Amino acid sequence: MHQISVAQLAKGLRDKQFSSTELTRHFLDRIASLDSRYNSYITVSESAAMAAAEAADRQLAAGDAAALTGIPIAHKDIFCTDGLRTSCGSRMLDNFVPPYDATVIQRFKRDGAVLLGKTNMDEFAMGSSNESSFYGPATNPWDRERVPGGSSGGSAAAVAARLAPAATGTDTGGSIRQPAAFCGITGLKPTYGRVSRLGMIAFASSLDQAGPMARSAQDCALLLNTMAGHDPLDSTSAAVATEDYTAALDNSLEGLRIGLPREYFGEGLDAATGAAVDAALKELTAQGARLVEISLPHSHLTVPAYYVIAPAEASTNLSRFDGVRYGHRCEDPVDLHDLYTRTREEGFGDEVKRRILVGTYALSAGYYDAYYKKAQQVRRLIKQDFLDCFEQVDVIAGPTTPGPAFRLGEKSDDPIAMYLEDVYTLAVNLAGLPGMSVPAGFVRGTPVGLQLIGRHFDESRLLNIAHRYQQVTDWHVQEPPEIAEGAA
Ligand code: GLN
Repeated sequence: MHQISVAQLAKGLRDKQFSSTELTRHFLDRIASLDSRYNSYITVSESAAMAAAEAADRQLAAGDAAALTGIPIAHKDIFCTDGLRTSCGSRMLDNFVPPYDATVIQRFKRDGAVLLGKTNMDEFAMGSSNESSFYGPATNPWDRERVPGGSSGGSAAAVAARLAPAATGTDTGGSIRQPAAFCGITGLKPTYGRVSRLGMIAFASSLDQAGPMARSAQDCALLLNTMAGHDPLDSTSAAVATEDYTAALDNSLEGLRIGLPREYFGEGLDAATGAAVDAALKELTAQGARLVEISLPHSHLTVPAYYVIAPAEASTNLSRFDGVRYGHRCEDPVDLHDLYTRTREEGFGDEVKRRILVGTYALSAGYYDAYYKKAQQVRRLIKQDFLDCFEQVDVIAGPTTPGPAFRLGEKSDDPIAMYLEDVYTLAVNLAGLPGMSVPAGFVRGTPVGLQLIGRHFDESRLLNIAHRYQQVTDWHVQEPPEIAEGAA
């Protein structure tokens, strides 16, 4: 049961090949016996999952099930879950049990999906390797000496190790796409505003967006159908009609214009990763797509702009963790100042502190114009580059990351090297566009991804291209050797 897709599982449930109770038990057993290797879950919700599975079986029997009814799903530990610990990968929230569900969680529950547990992540979603998690890093199922990527590394590792059929993630600068690429799965960051942020613990509010992480584009489409839609309780949620994201999956690629930004294929790109991307593009041209060279002239400014804007927003968002209302509180504070400083000193890890320092500095009275305002102006130029390109092309393609997964510890003492991991993904968030990573082959035994970037609200097109590609390639169905061999 762990070897098949969400679409096949949904059919199996309907055809009574197995029940949701059996399916959920199977995944819980796999997590119990295997996850010590991958550390992909922070919290497993065993009894609630079994109860939800029984309810789903009743719904299936009554014949009024939705597409995801009875399907076990793992959620990044950034989504508030009613009555279930939500840590955001931080000591600060190690003891936090939310009194409500995030809108994303509510929607999965509404559709009868079974919540398996909460996945590991970089602390407050800050990182590209999962190494900043208070709970220790998750490992990459293709090579456990390597990182699974981040910040949604636990979700990617869980799907790749077949410890969940699919998962949710969030992406502020690449955190769905980069771990998807590193773990050989398919991940979609929707347009900013497509999915509600209510109850999703905020990192950088103008960039954060939740999306699906699964084996295939088809499975991502099924999850997005549940996740997408206007939420009146989130003022940045878009009042744009949703569509059935599975409807256009099979559309022809004849005449599709794919833009290749020359800045994404130059210096810094690992040669073998570039070759995998080139081979993927050939598959798309064989189906009638046309390649067009384009330029995103402000690409060299995305890393600096992002690493001002994201920390600035983070520094304000994280000011709420003060030891007064919820989360960690230091022992025996002598006064209010001591309460704030010791609580934050103890509760936050190094990377989070670094971001708060940078962000507070960039927003301070003397530096606001020089850093934050300037970064926002650059952001506008970056967005305009994309809008100009979309006059000539329908979609933009390139690598998701500069290379395959790096070793645990390789970049953890070098924040700049870690930040450069995001060089191809950040601009998509700065521009609010949808972006996707699709498994496109292997480099020295570990997966790499093809990134597809679409016009605002054009998720269907990305899913269509990815699905057509997955009809003629099998990268996305390959399993990590120790999983395929049953050793794990
Ligand atoms: N790696 C980037 C960062 O550390 C992006 C993280 C994310 O998308 N949440 O900020």
